Formats: sequence, structure tokens, C-alpha cells
Amino acid sequence: EAYVKVIDGKSAAKEIREEIASEISRMKESIDVVPGLAVILVGERKDSATYVRNKKKACESVGIKSYEVHLAEDSSEQEVIKYISSFNDDPSVNGILVQLPLPFHMNERNVLNAVCLEKDVDGFNPLNIGLLAMRDREPLFVPCTPKGCIELLHRYGVPIKGKRAVVIGRSNIVGMPAALLLQREDATVSIVHSRTKNPEEITREADIVISAVGQPNMIRGSWIKSGSVVIDVGINPVEDAKSSRGYRLVGDVCYEEVSKVASAITPVPGGVGPMTIAMLLSNTLVAAKRAYDYK
Ligand code: NDP
Repeated sequence: EAYVKVIDGKSAAKEIREEIASEISRMKESIDVVPGLAVILVGERKDSATYVRNKKKACESVGIKSYEVHLAEDSSEQEVIKYISSFNDDPSVNGILVQLPLPFHMNERNVLNAVCLEKDVDGFNPLNIGLLAMRDREPLFVPCTPKGCIELLHRYGVPIKGKRAVVIGRSNIVGMPAALLLQREDATVSIVHSRTKNPEEITREADIVISAVGQPNMIRGSWIKSGSVVIDVGINPVEDAKSSRGYRLVGDVCYEEVSKVASAITPVPGGVGPMTIAMLLSNTLVAAKRAYDYK
């Protein structure tokens, strides 16, 4: 059996949180401010509530001040936007995050558009994505999950320049920006999606695979070239009678098969997930440094 290196997102994220915490304490000492992040949660989804709680905890662990607003499921779009506007105007808030998905009756686009560009720590504003796509331009923020994937490649010393990369999935929040980031790092990038004719064949050409599909165990060992590096973004619940919750979380990648072929792979959980939150903290620090013109 070939030796596979497990890319440990949990420990990389811990390292990053420590780096951020020490930068924030330096910032507090020299200009007597700390970054602030506002999180807006609408409705009662349990998974969303868990994500918000984890983000809040992560903020506290590095010294970011968090401001939380929890609105009822039946709130109006205008109410949510009113809170966003007040955070836009509040200088102690450097980043604003609206937890998705929003209730069905709200227009996600209108709500997200209300977040001002300087506080768009999720990096979802179309201008940010446009800047990310353009040569010689810099986005204000890079979306957290794809940024976390690239950060893992960097921290594990995986060369990207000149490599063949395949991104599976093209969503606005993960797949598409991941492909743009890999291209910025001089990889040659292909994007596989639900209409791709020969996904397996294309994926097998890759030195680096990033999968963000949302299908448990879709990426099999036969899809992977020997020695390639595989980043699994997927978080998919599958039934599991042995678990107390009745389900467990798996990635898009069939870990058992792919770990026998790849040279390195991220586990689920403990891979990209913790990195996403670490990158949110990083983006909030970036926002604060910019707001206070602090290097
Ligand atoms: P979306 O559902 O928005 O996008 C899925 C993408 O996968 C689409 O582009 C779709 O193609 C493509 N796709 C679906 N089925 C297939 C298939 N059979 N073959 C090839 N491509 C396919 O999902 P997200 O990007 O939001 O999330 C993807 C996964 O990542 C989910 O499991 C999600 O839970 C997880 N996730 C994890 C995060 C983390 O922090 N680790 C953060 C965000 C998401 P098409 O465009 O043609 O429809």
C-alpha cells in the first residue's frame, strides 16, 4: 500500500489561529483596537446556529470582538438590511457576515449586496469576484473556503505553478473561486461540473484535485492519477445507525480508495472545514488592518 500524507486541516487551522491571535495582541498594544466581526443569523436552522456558534467561539479565541444578531424566521428583508446598514456605519465592526441560507422569502442577492465592499469578509461581492478573476488586480477579500484550500497546499509545500489542477464543482462560493485562485497561482486549470462528459478522464490528468460537489464518495480511486494531491471540500451527511445522531459526515472523495493512490489527501472532517473558519478570522483581520491603516 502506498504511503499517503494526511493533510491535517485541524492543526493547520490551529497554527493560523495562533498567528492571528498574536497579530491582534500586537495591534491592541500599538493602536488600542481589536478587529470586530458582526454575524447575522436569520431563522432557526440548527446547522446554521452551530456554524454561527463556532464562528463566535473562534473569534473569541483570537481576540476578535464578535457582534451577533439573531432575527426571527419571519423577519422581513428590510429588517435584515437595516441591521447590515447599521453595521456598515459602525467603525468598530470591520467584517459583516450573513449566515446562509436565508429564509425562502428573502432575496439573498439583495441582502448580500447591502454589505459594503470594505466589510465583505466572505468575499461574495461580485466586484471582489471580478477582481479575483482579473490579472494584475487584487480582490479586497478572497472567499474563505477556497482560500483555505490554497492555504493548505501552501502550508504543506505542494507546488502549484505549472501543475495541472482540476476543480470539481463550479459554485460561486467554492468551485469557481477555487479555480480562479489556482489559475492566479499559475496552475493550468480544468473545471468539471454536472454537464461534463468525461469527468473521470479529466480528473485523472490532475496533479491537484479540489472537489466541491456535495456527493458522498463520488470521487473514486480510479479518478485519481498516482501521486496527485486531493483536497476534499465536500461535507455530506450519510446515514449511520452506529452514530448517536443517526448520520455521519463524509466528503466527496472515497477516502479509502483515493488514499491508496494519492500522495496527499485532506480528511473529512478535519480537513477544509476548520480552515474555512480560520480564513474568516484572517479576512476579518485584513479588514481591520485596512480600516485602521495598520500594517
Ligand atoms: P453547490 O451545490 O452550490 O455546487 C455543487 C457543484 O457541483 C455544482 O457546480 C454542480 O454542477 C457540481 N456537481 C453536482 N453534481 C455533480 C456531478 N455528479 N458531477 C460533477 N459535478 C457535479 O455546492 P457548494 O459548492 O456550495 O458545496 C459543495 C460541497 O462543499 C458541499 O458538500 C458542501 O457541504 C461543502 N462545503 C464545505 C465547506 C467547508 O467549509 N468545508 C464550505 C462550503 C461548502 P452544476 O454547476 O453543473 O450544477
